[in-house]
Amino acid sequence: MQRDPYYDVLFEPLSIGPVRTKNRFYQVPHCTGMGYLMPKTLAAMRETKAEGGWGVVCTEYCSIHPTSDDTPSPYATLWDNEDIKAHALMVEKVHSHGALAGVQLWYGGNKCSNLLSRQPSLGISSLPAEYDPIQCQAMLKEDIRELRRWHREAVQRAKEAGFDIVYVYATHDYLLSQFLSRIMNRRSDEYGGSLENRVRLIREIIEDTKGIVGDRCAVAVRLSTDGQVDINGIIDNTEQREVIEMIKDLPDLWDVNISDYSTEMGSSRFIKEAALEDRVSFVKKITHKPVVGVGRFTSPDTMVRQIKGGLLDLVGAARPSIADPFLPRKIEEGRLDEICECIGCNTCFAHDVRGAPIRCTQNPTMGEEWRRSWHPERIPSNQSDDSVLVVGAGPAGLEAARALGKRGYQVTLAEAKRDLGGRVFAESRLPGLSEWIRVLDYRQQQIARISNVSVYRESKLTAEHILEFDYPRVVIATGSRWRRDGVGRWHVRPIPGFEGTGVFTPEDVMSGVELSGPTIVFDDEHYYMGVVIAEKLRNDDLEVSLVTSAGVAAAWSRHTYEQERTQARLLNMGVEIHPGRVVASYDGQSVELSCIYTGKRFRRPAASIVTVTDRTPNDDLYKKLIGHGKELSSSGISSVWRIGDCQAPGTIAAAVYAGHRFARELDTVETSDISFRRERVTVSDSRTEAPRH
Ligand code: ADP
Ligand code: SF4
Repeated sequence: MQRDPYYDVLFEPLSIGPVRTKNRFYQVPHCTGMGYLMPKTLAAMRETKAEGGWGVVCTEYCSIHPTSDDTPSPYATLWDNEDIKAHALMVEKVHSHGALAGVQLWYGGNKCSNLLSRQPSLGISSLPAEYDPIQCQAMLKEDIRELRRWHREAVQRAKEAGFDIVYVYATHDYLLSQFLSRIMNRRSDEYGGSLENRVRLIREIIEDTKGIVGDRCAVAVRLSTDGQVDINGIIDNTEQREVIEMIKDLPDLWDVNISDYSTEMGSSRFIKEAALEDRVSFVKKITHKPVVGVGRFTSPDTMVRQIKGGLLDLVGAARPSIADPFLPRKIEEGRLDEICECIGCNTCFAHDVRGAPIRCTQNPTMGEEWRRSWHPERIPSNQSDDSVLVVGAGPAGLEAARALGKRGYQVTLAEAKRDLGGRVFAESRLPGLSEWIRVLDYRQQQIARISNVSVYRESKLTAEHILEFDYPRVVIATGSRWRRDGVGRWHVRPIPGFEGTGVFTPEDVMSGVELSGPTIVFDDEHYYMGVVIAEKLRNDDLEVSLVTSAGVAAAWSRHTYEQERTQARLLNMGVEIHPGRVVASYDGQSVELSCIYTGKRFRRPAASIVTVTDRTPNDDLYKKLIGHGKELSSSGISSVWRIGDCQAPGTIAAAVYAGHRFARELDTVETSDISFRRERVTVSDSRTEAPRH
């Protein structure tokens, strides 16, 4: 297929200083949870994006010196010449597909705790670290000179690694952005005071960088367009336009964003596509240099509007490139209906925060390119002619059917309900989660094109049905259900009174059961379900209280950058929040709460309770089938598996991954208990190591 000429503008080349990108698709720097620990994993992941058509592919934040150490979050390093090799590997792979490679040099300042290097970080003044009870070292003039030297040396290494674009990173509240801030910068030397003085260090670092790489690489500046965050998290936006005007044509490229991370990379519950537009578009009116910006762009039409509307020159993306590394190629080849759109869940980001390699709800191959040799667009063909029955069309069953179908297996997907999608279908109707339906939409569209996959709706299967059929391979993906008895993280036994009336599960609420108020949502899971149920019930005009065994509402969602917004939204809606409390008992009219610290009891009126605790796997069908033992083989069934929530209740990302892994590995032979390659330090011959003193 050919691309629609309407999208031609996205494929125009563009000069960025001394380099030229082949198109307007720009993968901005984004963290991966891999950093310096997993160079091969990273190189393969970035290569996949270059292969998928991104004109520019950047690294994550890359530390210039051991005093900028973000442990336990994995980050890249260019501390010494050894580090060059790791980056050269990525650069080579990115170049092999005709893309440019960019590196985001980074100095964290007081934000880092330097838990690995155990050296004090340099800061604009002696400020507290973000997570630990320590402060950084206030920079003297000689420290500023040192910082410039470290930056220059890292730039030199970046050049040797072969990068085409080198960043001066002056946003996200890291050190350089604090120099700009009139509130944070209280210095009395020539780096503080007037705006000219506060811009001085950034100007010097841009000039230093250009002096080293300017002949061969573009120098990008990453800056927030709406000012700097002060120590209390308040954004000061009085001078940002002036800052940009002062150095408007000094860099070769402006990479613009905004100070507030929870907006810049906000989840789709709160932030929609192109949300930064009004706040970044003025930059193009000031500078003659190209401008790149983000906005979780998944729609090619929105991308075109950014360019034709004069808002941006390059379409920046992190999450859309994670969800679909082949997004540019699909637009180029007129395959718009094959784009796998990001759902804005921020699972990708959450795992970097947890110190784990990146993963994606929509793209199960993300992060698996090297360790499992998975490719988002290619999958090995089937190894047998066996047909496969997939029972249950939630995210696990849908992904298994899609990927098995692509491999060439004859697949039957049976779903009990009329609607496909399982939990995704139901949950996407809850407040703020509408984009999650893309998990179903993408797979349903793909399956519809694969002639060897047949879908049967309203087909609730029993073990007897399956024994009568003629499928040698059976995979059970029947999901899980929320417990009604209150057993979960806190209670190992059912909560007294939960066996009576007035107690509901999230499924009851999602299926439209009407509750009477006042109602209590007991959230012992700590992710999104409890709080979106509370939001829904409040929207229905009920009096709602959220009781949670965590210290705040939706505590786990701090990893997805949703917690603070969630708490604010609930409070603004009038939902009363009871942190650090659990439901101890219920008598149908009132609930007894217990403080998890003191054991003190409180009573609250409650005409209904929604309990969000554990889930029970729907594994009866699986157990019944395998219980048939020999009868299975006489029915022609050679193997039965369970996948997704039916095996182990988890996230939607985990269910999609389970479906994909099952499909990939069917008919492959496991040669080891460790099913993936590991990057790890191997112990060298100890005789060659220097003696200890
Ligand atoms: P997962 O997240 O593991 O994919 P879900 O709960 O989202 O699980 O989806 C499971 C799907 O399986 C639901 O759509 C449900 O209707 C379907 N299902 C459950 N039991 C059966 C059955 N016996 N036959 C067919 N479909 C079933
Ligand atoms: Fe988008 Fe979620 Fe994938 Fe991140 S994990 S890229 S937010 S779909």
